[in-house]
Amino acid sequence: MKAAVLALQGAFAEQEHMLDEMGVEYFEIRQETDLQQEFDVLLLPGGESTVMGKLLRELNLLVPLKKKIEDGLPVLGTCAGLILLAGELSDGEAHHLATMPVTVKRNAYGRQLGSFRTTAPFGDRGEIPMVFIRAPYIGRVGEGVEILAEVDGRIVAVRYGNQIGVAFHPELAGVRTVYEMLFERAGE
Ligand code: GLN
Repeated sequence: MKAAVLALQGAFAEQEHMLDEMGVEYFEIRQETDLQQEFDVLLLPGGESTVMGKLLRELNLLVPLKKKIEDGLPVLGTCAGLILLAGELSDGEAHHLATMPVTVKRNAYGRQLGSFRTTAPFGDRGEIPMVFIRAPYIGRVGEGVEILAEVDGRIVAVRYGNQIGVAFHPELAGVRTVYEMLFERAGE
């Protein structure tokens, strides 16, 4: 199995560290020609979704990546990566890949309060540690979206077919569970 990591901005090195730890081969997507390589899963890291969205458009990566995801490519979006996947952003901001029928609220906990650590159950996989950094949360889910985790009554992790979106940073807590769920999908 080979992973591709979107490496335009943000916490992509942290994702790569996690893949190294798990012994998963990967390469970086930085420009259109990188998409000529074959890959089985895609990681969209944390960072600043507005910057990543702008670069995705400028580098002509938005449309081909959107198509791959819609065609079934397993994808994990963490934090800003989740925002990239969201079909709708509250406050009427422009959406990006928009492959997942969820409404996401950015910087949802206030500027500094958005950074905290907790533990909560993740799907059927038991409790996992969750690190939130200026995190979004999911305000509304559309049909077919499975809620994987909630913290204080707010949805923080979802799955929609081949797509997993988490508002926290599994790579910063060394949580393999979330990646394992993604890789299982690639094995199907
Ligand atoms: N606040 C960032 C955004 O809106 C997300 C933060 C993160 O990825 N840790 O894009």
